[in-house]
Amino acid sequence: MNLVIVESPAKARTISKFLGHEYSVQASFGHVRDLPRTVLGVDVENNFEPKYVIPPKAKKTIAALKKLLSKSEKIIMATDEDREGEAISWHLVQALGLEDSKRKTVDRIVFHEITKGAIEKALEHPRTIDMNLVDAQQARRVLDRLVGYKLSPFLWKKVARGLSAGRVQSVAVRLIVEREREIENFKAEEYWTIEANLQPATDNRQQFIAFLNKIKGEAIPKPGIKNKVETDKILDDLKGKEFIVSKIESKEEKRVPASPFITSTLQQEGFKKLRFSSKQTMMLAQQLYEGVELGDKGPTGLITYMRTDSTNLSEQALWAAKDAIIEMFGEKYWAGFPRKYKVKSRLAQEAHEAVRPTDPARTPESIRSHLTPQQFKLYDLIWRRFMATQMKEAIFDTMSVEIEAGNYTFGANGQILKFDGFLKVYPIKFSELTLPKLEEKEKVEVSEISPKQHFTKPPPRFNEASLIKTLEKFGIGRPSTYAPIISTIQDRNYVQKDRTRYFHLTEIGKMVNDLLVQHFPNVVDLKFTSKMEDDLDKIADGKEKWTLVLKEFYKPFSENLEKKYKEVSDKTVEETDEICDKCGGKMVIRMGRFGKFMACSNFPKCKNTKNLSNSEN
Ligand SMILES: [Zn+2]
Repeated sequence: MNLVIVESPAKARTISKFLGHEYSVQASFGHVRDLPRTVLGVDVENNFEPKYVIPPKAKKTIAALKKLLSKSEKIIMATDEDREGEAISWHLVQALGLEDSKRKTVDRIVFHEITKGAIEKALEHPRTIDMNLVDAQQARRVLDRLVGYKLSPFLWKKVARGLSAGRVQSVAVRLIVEREREIENFKAEEYWTIEANLQPATDNRQQFIAFLNKIKGEAIPKPGIKNKVETDKILDDLKGKEFIVSKIESKEEKRVPASPFITSTLQQEGFKKLRFSSKQTMMLAQQLYEGVELGDKGPTGLITYMRTDSTNLSEQALWAAKDAIIEMFGEKYWAGFPRKYKVKSRLAQEAHEAVRPTDPARTPESIRSHLTPQQFKLYDLIWRRFMATQMKEAIFDTMSVEIEAGNYTFGANGQILKFDGFLKVYPIKFSELTLPKLEEKEKVEVSEISPKQHFTKPPPRFNEASLIKTLEKFGIGRPSTYAPIISTIQDRNYVQKDRTRYFHLTEIGKMVNDLLVQHFPNVVDLKFTSKMEDDLDKIADGKEKWTLVLKEFYKPFSENLEKKYKEVSDKTVEETDEICDKCGGKMVIRMGRFGKFMACSNFPKCKNTKNLSNSEN
């Protein structure tokens, strides 16, 4: 018998369908070794040697797997294809003691999708465990551990107990803090626009609206006309002027489909279109990847691996999409060639694929009855986005018209959809507007000219979608980390979502951020954090040694930390005039994880506390 080990029972079920009786597929239930919870678990004096432990819940799994080892000929690690998956395999090898036993060979196989073809191909090309990928994972784990476990006690002493600081998520909080300040400091600017209701002199039923956009041939600087005085002057000037069509431009405009999903865009669209949090999107995507029961067909992997930053599509997928599109919508809807996407990521070494359906012919409707409503929605989104990439562009007939009135130029734009193309499966919002048939030099009639006052608006607060987009733009976070970052900053009460799902900063979030910015600038620096991500990529690429990256970070970090322990004053309490109703002592204001609260100054003898907002009422 051969033993195949994967992370989860669902994945085990889906894979075993493709393997014969000579294979036993078992689940490790995630990581079987990790750093200890209660202590640092990293020997900083000794090359950052991690002291891994087997958590209690993994002990049973290890014991059960060990029993199977004696009956197994080959041992095959089939965990996920990224660094986390590689590390799980490596930890398994360590925990099962396979490294020392020369009798057993351990094969590592990887695949983007759990399909018959992919599994068979993977089995034909086994490799050994890639220690570069493992080291990149270890480096991230240890780095996060060092920052978290060293910086949090500092915050307890200087701000409030129960706080925690973390690498990367502190940068995310910083982005939110800075946006909040931008909003606070924003001064709305007044501006005006002028629009004209026009119609051809020959036909007064065909009204259309044109906006003033040029004065003496020069575009009006943004955001618009400065004030009412200028606006009134223009309106005065326009009185009695003839409006003459000066330019007409008609053309076809093509709109191309968006690129196939990678983790970050999947999370953004999941948030915008389906109202899913990034955590929810990833959980559902994992279920679709690992396999869903499809009645007679058994457990079936419906999408490719969901943690990826590659827009690459396999040849096979491209041709399967072509057949499916022609079959479902007809020849004219296929792009006419397989549309391929350049890989933007700097991380080319992990030759992954975009998130796409494993079988384009499997329409969302055809499997709807086997999916939960949420699984269906996400599969539908992924299927549509992928199919769209291989479909024809949408074609719009557009027309733009310029109308002159003395020194002033008005513009009007119209567009009509001529061919829907990919919009058939992946609709986007657009408006159709028809302009009347006009000719150059034609005089048009004015029925109304109306000025409008506007004010510029502050930049919007971040939501999950825009925060992920921004993190990605700055090179912070990776496919495996966006969702955890978003969860962590909320769990720690540094930010809160409002009813419209925008992030608001909490008092404690602001305090912790300000302290980090002042005293640990590197930890919250965008460039520094992005460079660290690059270093981790280099480790994965075999171009950098992981312990060296840690050393470079840790030495200045720990020296600074020691200095700051002395320099920064401990947290203080604010005096109040309130008397404790339990012991008669004085009440003071303290800082806690959830903000300020009132407590008895005789703490810990007296544990009386009061909610601050209530006591103020
Ligand atoms: Zn008291």
